[in-house]
Amino acid sequence: MNTTTREADTLAHLTKTTPRTRAASAGSAEVLNMGSAANLNLPFPLLIDRAEGARLFDLDGNAYIDTMMGFGTHVLGHRYPDVEAALHEQLGKGWMFGIHNAGQETLARMLGEAAPCAERVIFCNSGTEATMYALRLARAATGRTAIASFDGGYHGAHNDGYVIADPASPANAPQAVALGAGIPASTIAEHIKLPYRDDAALDIIDANRDRLAAVIIEGIQSSNPQISPEVGAFLHALRDRCRQHGIIFILDEVITGFRISYGGVQEHYELTPDLATYGKALGGGIPIGAVAGRADLMELFQKLGRDKRGLFSGGSFSGNPLAMAAGIAHLRAIQARRPVLYTELATKTAHLRDSVNTYARDKNFPVQILAAGSMFQLYFQATPIRSARDITSAHRRAEGVFYLHLLRHGVLIPGTRRAFLADAHTPQDVNAIIAAIARALGDTRADALI
Ligand code: PLP
Repeated sequence: MNTTTREADTLAHLTKTTPRTRAASAGSAEVLNMGSAANLNLPFPLLIDRAEGARLFDLDGNAYIDTMMGFGTHVLGHRYPDVEAALHEQLGKGWMFGIHNAGQETLARMLGEAAPCAERVIFCNSGTEATMYALRLARAATGRTAIASFDGGYHGAHNDGYVIADPASPANAPQAVALGAGIPASTIAEHIKLPYRDDAALDIIDANRDRLAAVIIEGIQSSNPQISPEVGAFLHALRDRCRQHGIIFILDEVITGFRISYGGVQEHYELTPDLATYGKALGGGIPIGAVAGRADLMELFQKLGRDKRGLFSGGSFSGNPLAMAAGIAHLRAIQARRPVLYTELATKTAHLRDSVNTYARDKNFPVQILAAGSMFQLYFQATPIRSARDITSAHRRAEGVFYLHLLRHGVLIPGTRRAFLADAHTPQDVNAIIAAIARALGDTRADALI
């Protein structure tokens, strides 16, 4: 057997079982730039035809156990019946009014019940918009211009969202650089990167206290999902330091809201930020974003022209009736399954993590899973990961091949590697994921890649 036989065999298998998908996507490169997030390292895009519960079905009818869950959107699973019914009902009434609909108040009140910080709410259409508005509000409210965010975090696709830490800079003093072209130097000059889970962040905040409008953070970073009392203490210290200096503390709950617990990181760590941002689960699968927070800050969105700190927010689709209907139905369904839902989600994700980690240790695979609640990520390294800076890419080639084998064994982990379990994943599904990971690791080793 030569060294690439298993990989070639899997590619041949995937090619043979996806004729419609390949035919349908044959010309797509002429008109489409497929985003890197969709990339499964396949030589052709995988086109999904339909979804049900914990599964995605491609155009050829192949079923995959899905761990993408709409980039973390679906807490209960695909096509949850109550959400589907609410969407059908709303479609019968119209789906784009422009003028207000009653669902907006209902969903805003539900957000207020979930998160104590949410005295007022504005809706928008994505997590990107939510963090963009929150940062602008912080600049408007404080009259300061600089923003601080953390190495390893992600906050969306606007200019500030694409300022990352230079991997060549010291871990405890990360330097801001742009992720790709098109970001003005002025944006980078106004953006400070901070080390996650490192008290050096507090010193950097102190040193920039007069120019910082906001500190924004994913309380639990999706790049290294971990829950520990120490993370909670770090978040509290940050919030307190921001208060001390009049800096707006923004908790980005786009992923963690309604996922880590119903009240997100705020509930888990009993932490009240000045502002919080939402997306994903809040809309039940229809595009949504929201900024929630202190009434005295949020009211500036209504004071354009009447207060020099007043600012504009708008958007054709903001608060649209379809997103409101799906969001309300999703949150009501989650509420009906509380509190057992979050315990079950965390227990089955911990079972997945512990089983894979034990197997990897026993068989000497350089692999580990980190998990927080129902978020998890598999890393091709055995060394400890405390923050995103500790993540290495020593086994990149093996990793790419591993995911091909995993797909062949019926499990889909997204190209972003951020994976999620939902209520729809049965214990059998979880065991099938564990078995598929073990098989795919064996396949990768058969080609001497790990
Ligand atoms: N904030 C966080 C923490 C995210 O994970 C994401 C997206 O994954 C965003 C913001 C941006 O949200 P969207 O992709 O809806 O624009």
